[in-house]
Amino acid sequence: MSRSWRAGLALLTLVLAAPLISAESPVKQVAITIDDLPLGGGDGGPCDFQSVRRITARLLEPFSAQRIPVTAFINEGRCRDMTPRELRAVLDMWLDAGADLGNHTYSHADLSRTPVADFEGEITRGEPVTRAALGNRDRPLRYFRHSFLHTGLDRPGTPSSNFSHRTDTRWRR
Ligand SMILES: [Zn+2]
Repeated sequence: MSRSWRAGLALLTLVLAAPLISAESPVKQVAITIDDLPLGGGDGGPCDFQSVRRITARLLEPFSAQRIPVTAFINEGRCRDMTPRELRAVLDMWLDAGADLGNHTYSHADLSRTPVADFEGEITRGEPVTRAALGNRDRPLRYFRHSFLHTGLDRPGTPSSNFSHRTDTRWRR
């Protein structure tokens, strides 16, 4: 068989196989994540333990009822009126509902505006309660998400174009 025949046969095989390939495409999946916890929605809401616990219980109802996998990204410094023990109780509510937890920096710091050394501190300061809550269930802390999805500047004065979810999170398989 000549080279051109082989090339033509290979192309024909690809064309014929295309519908089969698309018919057998993998199941599409969506990852659901919630940021800025223990209490999202801006800094104006009540951030005391009882309020956060009540809001969290309502927020978790559909996830628990429908068994929807979700990853909650935590700013451990977000509700400064809460003690670490109270924060842990809220994080346990998420884990009890089947959620995974991720670090979202201590105070929602923006890497595009924060020196690297300070940002490293935001990461390490932002995870001890979260890591302990996961570790208590023999689970590792696997996820980190940059605040604002900013992964730093490509060059001075230019926001990074590399800020998609997939670059800063690993999806559950
Ligand atoms: Zn955020």
